Amino acid sequence: MSSLYKHIPSVNDALDALTRDSYFSELPRPLLKGLVNEFLDVCREEIRAGLIAEPDALALEALLPRMSAHVRAKSRPHFRRVLNATGVVVHTNMGRSLLADSAIRAVAEACGHYSNCEFDLSTGERGSRYSHVEELLCRITGAEAALVVNNNAAAVFIMLETLARGREVIVSRGQLVEIGGSFRIPDVMTKSGAILREVGATNRTHVYDYEGAINEETAALMRVHTSNFRVVGFTREVSLPEMRALGDRYGLPVIEDLGSGTLYSLENAGLHGEPTVQQVVEQGADVVSFSGDKVLGGPQAGIIVGRREYIERIKRNPINRAMRIDKMTLAALEATLRLYLDMDLARERIPTLRMITMSEAALKSRARRLADTLRKVLGDRVAVALKRGFSRVGGGAFPEYDLPGTLVSVTTEEISIPELRQRLLDTDPPLVARIEDDAFLLDPRTLDSREFGMVAAALRQALDMQ
Ligand SMILES: *Cc1c(COP(=O)(O)O)cnc(C)c1O
Repeated sequence: MSSLYKHIPSVNDALDALTRDSYFSELPRPLLKGLVNEFLDVCREEIRAGLIAEPDALALEALLPRMSAHVRAKSRPHFRRVLNATGVVVHTNMGRSLLADSAIRAVAEACGHYSNCEFDLSTGERGSRYSHVEELLCRITGAEAALVVNNNAAAVFIMLETLARGREVIVSRGQLVEIGGSFRIPDVMTKSGAILREVGATNRTHVYDYEGAINEETAALMRVHTSNFRVVGFTREVSLPEMRALGDRYGLPVIEDLGSGTLYSLENAGLHGEPTVQQVVEQGADVVSFSGDKVLGGPQAGIIVGRREYIERIKRNPINRAMRIDKMTLAALEATLRLYLDMDLARERIPTLRMITMSEAALKSRARRLADTLRKVLGDRVAVALKRGFSRVGGGAFPEYDLPGTLVSVTTEEISIPELRQRLLDTDPPLVARIEDDAFLLDPRTLDSREFGMVAAALRQALDMQ
């Protein structure tokens, strides 16, 4: 057995053989060498365990396929593309919104070249980085002024810190929400230095509840969008116009955390109950914040729009500098917002809106095409069938709506469905979908049709077909 060890290829020979493939020759050399050594250790281990008993099995050509697979699997970047077949359009765990093509191009341009990021081309002097999007935001939302920070959590924080630090903010008990990832309105408020004055009951809050809590310490009336839940039944929330009237009577600003915040009305797509940012501005909210990468379909950002006097104060807050967005975000946001100058264009070009508003007929034809591709590539290794089902908007928007569509169900006798799901997490790229009734369910809504072949290839890999 010990004589077998000397048949193990040298690291240098192994490296030479591997780097004939450009994928490997482009990897950082120390990374490659470490992984080759790791693989050769596995071989030593297998000799010791009696799994390798023949010198022939240790020939470089014999080892090369396994060695390539080992190095390839371990040298993949940690941040990877994933095939999202879950049907959740704004999936926070999978990067939320996909950018429109024009936004992707704008990002590439912004990060590959110098730019007028903070440079005023009319004067040749230092400029404001927000100038690129402020006018667009005002034009689209009807607000007087706008500001953009890193994400909506930061937006809520800086709004409160600026306008209410050390003073009271009145919020309905029905709106003290927790968003995923431990963002809770009461906690953010505490951190901002604002004092939460909760009023009303979980299911019902009235104008007189807010009015009764107003005193000389009150800094603002706040509304928070109940993003990920709905209170139904015997309920009452104070409407924005009512709140506006109350604010006017006592000289208090009305601030609103809209959460997802959509610029495109989804009423025509059958989704009701979420006002657009334009409506909220129109109905008189003084300061409104929302996310750039939820239903808006742009990059991660927290957008704040509203009355100039408040926005100017927020802009001057020194914390603003710590929440500043980078040039890639700016480029992507401007390109995305430009599409909103024509709502039909926005619906067509912004992937998030396109996926949410996709017709049932279109979904059915995509499901058919996906099923055909799977049958062609996988033959009788799997059973493929179409099934009626539902997708979700996700991202804390329209939590009570199921979006109807057609799904592709995949079953196999060869391995259990949980095992299949596990293996698909390790394919290239990984494929994530739902399991229901012992079937693997693929939702074509969140897959690009150019990805159908990759879905089939991932299933092939998971079933060891190559
Ligand atoms: C999502 C959400 C936030 C946080 O927004 P991020 O963009 O994730 O920082 C805050 N408030 C509400 C109501 C939300 O839905």
